Amino acid sequence: MKTIGLIGGMSWESSIEYYRIINQAVRNELGGVHSAKSVMVSLDFAEIEELQKRGDWEKATRIMVDTARLVENGGADFLLICTNTMHLMAEEVQKSVDIPLLHIADATAQAIKRKELTTLGLLGTRFTMEKPFYRGRLEDHHKLKVLIPDEDHRGSVHRVIYDELVKGIINQGSREIYRKVITSLVDAGAQGIIFGCTEIGLLVKQEDVPVPVFDTMEIHALAAVDAALGRYQIDG
Ligand code: GLU
Repeated sequence: MKTIGLIGGMSWESSIEYYRIINQAVRNELGGVHSAKSVMVSLDFAEIEELQKRGDWEKATRIMVDTARLVENGGADFLLICTNTMHLMAEEVQKSVDIPLLHIADATAQAIKRKELTTLGLLGTRFTMEKPFYRGRLEDHHKLKVLIPDEDHRGSVHRVIYDELVKGIINQGSREIYRKVITSLVDAGAQGIIFGCTEIGLLVKQEDVPVPVFDTMEIHALAAVDAALGRYQIDG
């Protein structure tokens, strides 16, 4: 079994889910008291959020690169960045370490292709919904069509992530807002919805959504298990 490397803490509300899912899947797979071999370096999200707000992506990149090296030096065979947003600097991170990065959008695209869907609605932080690093990867590399919510809806989705979900606040009213946003994406032609933020699955579940959901946190965690057990080929 390979050792899974994780950059966590963004937020820990979802990192803890990664840890749980990865270990449960390894135990289910291998039985007995098996658990995953892993190394996680967990950051203080307040520092990261401040840099995101200021748009200081240079400093954020330096932190991510340094952290990736720590994970590599800790013995990881491959690396996960446990947040969609911070894949903004995935390329720089990959260049700075010798172990492969298991990109969250690649794992998600594979899950989407297994269901043979082509048009997806994307929910996430403003950075993930609006900047090209994430949609571009899905559209150019994976030939998927990605729909994003309108300006107002993007603002609501983003606000709920930072004001509630990363703080562990689960609010019924916010779930209703997300359901409305999802309904308009489905009306616009989305055949499935990407939970492109690792905390959205804490608020909204498959049963709240009329089309298949792709929870990037769960998909990424399970892809890590597949990679650790030699069944997932990391593209790099
Ligand atoms: N965990 C979130 C994501 O998947 C948001 C936190 C962050 O900005 O890193 O994008």
